[in-house]
Amino acid sequence: MKSSGTVYLVGAGPGDVGLMTVRGAELLARADVVVYDALINGDILRMASPEAKMIYAGKRSGDHAIPQDELNQLLVDHARAGKCVVRLKGGDPYVFGRGGEEAITLAAAKIPFEVVPGVSSIYAAPNYAGIPITHRDHCSSFTVYTGHEDPDKNEPGTDWALAARTPGTKIILMGVTRIREIAQTLVKHGMNENTPVAMVRWGTTGRQQSIEGTLKTIADVVESTGFKPPALTVIGDVVKLRTNLNWFEKRPLFGRRIVVTRTRAQAGQLSKLLLERGADVLEIPTIRIELPMERLALADALLELNSYDWLIFTSPNGVTAFFEHFFKVFEDMRDLGGPRIAAVGPATAAQLQKLHLKVDLMPKEATAAALATALTGYESVENLKMLLLRAEVATKELPKKLEELGAIVDDVACYRNVPETEDRNGAMARLLKDGADWITFASASSVENFNARANLKDLLTQHPGIKLATIGPETSKALAALELKADLEAREHTIPGLVKALEKAVAAQVVDIP
Ligand code: SAH
Repeated sequence: MKSSGTVYLVGAGPGDVGLMTVRGAELLARADVVVYDALINGDILRMASPEAKMIYAGKRSGDHAIPQDELNQLLVDHARAGKCVVRLKGGDPYVFGRGGEEAITLAAAKIPFEVVPGVSSIYAAPNYAGIPITHRDHCSSFTVYTGHEDPDKNEPGTDWALAARTPGTKIILMGVTRIREIAQTLVKHGMNENTPVAMVRWGTTGRQQSIEGTLKTIADVVESTGFKPPALTVIGDVVKLRTNLNWFEKRPLFGRRIVVTRTRAQAGQLSKLLLERGADVLEIPTIRIELPMERLALADALLELNSYDWLIFTSPNGVTAFFEHFFKVFEDMRDLGGPRIAAVGPATAAQLQKLHLKVDLMPKEATAAALATALTGYESVENLKMLLLRAEVATKELPKKLEELGAIVDDVACYRNVPETEDRNGAMARLLKDGADWITFASASSVENFNARANLKDLLTQHPGIKLATIGPETSKALAALELKADLEAREHTIPGLVKALEKAVAAQVVDIP
């Protein structure tokens, strides 16, 4: 159902993509317009359709936020134009996020709206830093404050004298720059200066950092470590439980910024494995799949699809692209006719199996020669019609080989690779600015494509700490062709093998997390 003219105030959760709600993800995927804040993890924005209009509403260093009344008007205008608008806010929309104000404007303008709660940083960030905000042995309540106000004035809002007398855990949002005054005020009003305090920055993401101290020492720790917002503060005895409960920060790749360079569709497995190991993953797509320039041959092939004895796929993208075209012309899988199907490579075969299509033949190796041998072993291919479904620019070796065997070959492009230039999740910008610990390459083409997007030599000159990891010797050779050397080459040439190698390398390094 496409709900037009509605505004959805959606809580994006504290950062970890997995903490977005199912309802929120569903709405984001169907939004025409997405208006998002500064604290939103860029990878969450990628859940939106590539066609959605993305409007940045927050404040980032340098530029100004859209003023609140202008922003409210923007929501109203887009909804009145019949759009499905998602207003994406960090954590929960009604927790210190002016979500209430936005909802009131919508109600006044009689715009239909829905508010989707989000997982708030209030408890999620402490959790990921090993702190349960309540525990029977320590406290039976918690109170949440904003640290934004000037603590000396006691107005408006937070009464720090009252806070000092209130039992239970205290959580302060937005209080990093004022932590010295806040801690001193709490002590002045009677709190023990040895009360444990922790601060968590970018909680629940791979960028998470945490520091620990007491009301007396925490401001000095902030200064000596250069600790910066966005962060929240937890005050209370529960902070001590962190010694045993710090499940997230103990993950093997925690604190490591790792770049994943593949096409968007293929990056999933590597990113997921790295994220689950606590890494700060920068997913940087290098190529994008688009329609081929020349589409006549494909249209012709679809018209006479029944005349082919074999369909030959050489990449998972070829499978996806071909069936997209196929279902634009036909409604029924049976219109494929009864051709035999060959897949070059296990990933291509897996993509066909997802469509419940049986792969009749897969050569042992992903080469033209191996396919030719496998085909002739299967049957005599003389005078058989073969449809090769590939990328626009593909080598002529395979069709030549098949023709030499007497087959009648139609070599048809069903997609083309174009360099990716968009940076929707902001990962490229972060890499250029902050560098990374590792850049991973899972194929020779990903080396070439990534280098075309971000000149590797320049990047390494600017950030000499970056190390390069490859899935195997072919990929390392592609680096060598650029006069670069892989710092690490996986022994087992698979995605899990690459992850294992990274874990080992990181474990062998001296721990240098602040
Ligand atoms: N609505 C949000 C809070 C918005 S106020 C929520 O429910 O979480 C913004 C403040 O929230 C930040 O200044 C910081 O104090 C806190 N915050 C939000 N996300 C955070 C995160 N991932 N880690 C630590 N603090 C976070």
